[in-house]
This record gives sequence, C-alpha cells and structure tokens, in this order.
Amino acid sequence: MAGNITFTMIKPGAVKNGHIGAILNHINKGGFKIVAMKYVHLSPQMAGQFYAVHKERPFYGELVEFMSSGPIVAAVLQKDNAVEDFRTLIGATNPAEAAEGTVRKLYATSIGENAVHGSDSDENALIEANFHFSGTEMFA
Ligand code: GDP
Repeated sequence: MAGNITFTMIKPGAVKNGHIGAILNHINKGGFKIVAMKYVHLSPQMAGQFYAVHKERPFYGELVEFMSSGPIVAAVLQKDNAVEDFRTLIGATNPAEAAEGTVRKLYATSIGENAVHGSDSDENALIEANFHFSGTEMFA
C-alpha cells in the first residue's frame, strides 16, 4: 500500500460544527477511496503520542487538548499520489492562507482548529494509519 495511501482525521471542531458529511463528500469527489474509517474520542495520551513530533512546539499543549476535546473521524484514504493530492485538497495549515474551495478554507475556524489532518509523507502515512488501525481494519 506504500505510496498510494494517506491518513486523515476530521478534527473535533469540524465534527462539532456538523461538517463530517460535507468533508467526506469532498474526499469522495476528490477521487479518494476510503479503505479504513472509525469514529473515536482520543485520550490526551493518544493525542499526545500521535503529535509527539510537535512536542517542542509552543502550541503542543493546546493541540493535544483540542484533539482530545471530542470525537474525531479517523480514516485511511487510497489514491495515486495520495499524500500530495490530499494536501492540495485540504489546503494550507492556516485557513486564512488556504486556497478557495479547499476543506480548510471552507470548514476550519483557525490555525489550531483547522478541520482536518493530512499526512505529510508516504512514510508518515503508513505510521499514522498503523497507529489507528490494525491490518484487519484496512480494506485496500
Ligand atoms: P499540517 O501538516 O498542515 O497539519 O501542519 P503542522 O504539521 O505544521 O502542524 C500540525 C497541527 O498543529 C496543525 O494542523 C494545527 O492543528 C496545529 N498547529 C500548527 N501551527 C499552529 C499554531 O501556530 N498554533 C496552534 N494553536 N496550532 C497550530
């Protein structure tokens, strides 16, 4: 599966604001196949572990608190060039800088509460998919 999957989360803010359906629609229309999906409330420990790479960043505490503040939708998506194409679909980290029509432009409320996560490399996509899903939960 390496090279053609990415991992995403619909973050607590977008879930709370009722955007799950609209965001999944963007994902489908963008040509991504959903190969795994779950609705889950991360503990602060799990959110902290997932974002451990950002431990030294000033916003780490805020990020972990937000990501464990309510349920998320976690999913593995398959498509040629999945990582790059999904980053294009979701737009820049800061919604103020995101292109028109992107998921973050449409549904994010701030740089911290930016609607969705998208893996930044093929290597991280695999690590992140395996963090949330076992082999029997992925249907490539
Ligand atoms: P991404 O790959 O586009 O998600 O961006 P990064 O890897 O740089 O950051 C990971 C996540 O940390 C982002 O999606 C935001 O939720 C959060 N984040 C990044 N920069 C900031 C910031 O300046 N302030 C806050 N509160 N959160 C941030």
